[in-house]
Amino acid sequence: MSLRRVLILGAGHAGGSAAAALRHFGHEGPIALVGEEPLLPYQRPPLSKAWLKGEADEDELQLRPASFYAENDIHVRLGVRATRIDRDAKQVTLSDGEVLPYDVLIIATGARARRLDLPGGEMARTLELRTQADAEMLKASIAPGKRLAIVGGGYVGLEVAASARALGAEAVVIEREPRILARVACPLLSDFFTAYHRKHGVRFELDAAVAALEGEAGEPSAVRLGDGRRLPCDLVLIGVGALPNQELAEAAGLPCHHGVVVDEEARTADPAIFAIGDVTRRPLPLYGRSFRLESVPNALEQAKQAAAAITGHKPPPHEVPWFWSDQYDLKLQIAGLPFDVDDLVVRGDPDQARFAVFHMKGDAIQAVEAINSPAEFMGGKLLIGAQRPVSRERLADPSISMKEVAT
Ligand code: FAD
Repeated sequence: MSLRRVLILGAGHAGGSAAAALRHFGHEGPIALVGEEPLLPYQRPPLSKAWLKGEADEDELQLRPASFYAENDIHVRLGVRATRIDRDAKQVTLSDGEVLPYDVLIIATGARARRLDLPGGEMARTLELRTQADAEMLKASIAPGKRLAIVGGGYVGLEVAASARALGAEAVVIEREPRILARVACPLLSDFFTAYHRKHGVRFELDAAVAALEGEAGEPSAVRLGDGRRLPCDLVLIGVGALPNQELAEAAGLPCHHGVVVDEEARTADPAIFAIGDVTRRPLPLYGRSFRLESVPNALEQAKQAAAAITGHKPPPHEVPWFWSDQYDLKLQIAGLPFDVDDLVVRGDPDQARFAVFHMKGDAIQAVEAINSPAEFMGGKLLIGAQRPVSRERLADPSISMKEVAT
């Protein structure tokens, strides 16, 4: 039985899940969960999807009901920020001056929206989408006929575009690269999503730099592009990625490299300190490299890794990273990561909005991007995990079931 005091910094998806996993694994010592936001741990994915469209209420955002924390003796401190970690004294200072001791510390401070310092920004307020408070502002601003300019064609920007269209607003996506999702998806998928969004009335400015914002008294009136064109708008959402909140760890002397560096148990260079979720750079044993992932499954996985290590349980088996995105009636599910890919195999029909793209390295699948194709996602995920050789011809043939592909 361990009565060690566990202190968790960051009450987001990873932090909240770690507290629950610790109790699940039988940790009996005190658990304190400190969060800067004034809310109990909640889910961010619906903020750009169902919740933004008014299809999910606040309670549905919550990770667990409020009673869970009291019932499990998890001491929650909200609306307060951790400002300093003293590793020698094993204590953390909070923004209200309180000092909390720990035996084991878990850093789960997540990431924040990357900001753009654009000329004209002082006259034209921009929105970002990371927290529920951000989402409240966005939701209050989107209305039928409003013109929304979204800077950045990543998943969050595209999901907001789809939700805005559902709410009757106009949407234009401005992307610096020649294609949307350039960092995270293959060109076929980028083309597919571009066409699908266009069909739903979203406009795209690709290969386009934002030179300045125009507006008055905080109200935006236009985005000016690098080529001089003006795109009139009523609101501007910046969706250009996220930065890890690693400063606290860095100041405490923990190695960071685009994320707090952790091992397979989510442990940092300090054996008493773990880090989990979006803030980490973690090993991906399946791919023999380290990476920073931003996804709910990753937050849950690392919460489990840390809780297992702290309570002396076996680590969870190596997982295949995965992710999803919902836009219109499209469910995108991605398993694996497309490192060092030789070629692609397409299964199904993009014109029917039902297909999967397999990223191949030799005869093994590295990653699969599946649109409205849960069997391809599940089957692909299993094959990636097993690194079983597959025949490209069989994989490309939808008449051969995913179960049979590998045999
Ligand atoms: P967070 O959820 O960011 O939580 C970190 C918490 O720590 C925050 O509450 C922060 O305020 C707090 N914190 C930071 N610094 C301090 C400090 N010094 N002291 C105290 N507290 C601090 N993932 C998917 O898999 N699928 C999706 O469809 C998807 N959609 C998304 C849509 C949106 C709009 C967003 C923003 C994210 C989406 N994600 C999605 C990503 C997913 O939500 C994140 O990967 C996940 O929330 C990471 O959890 P986390 O606990 O590491 O970080």
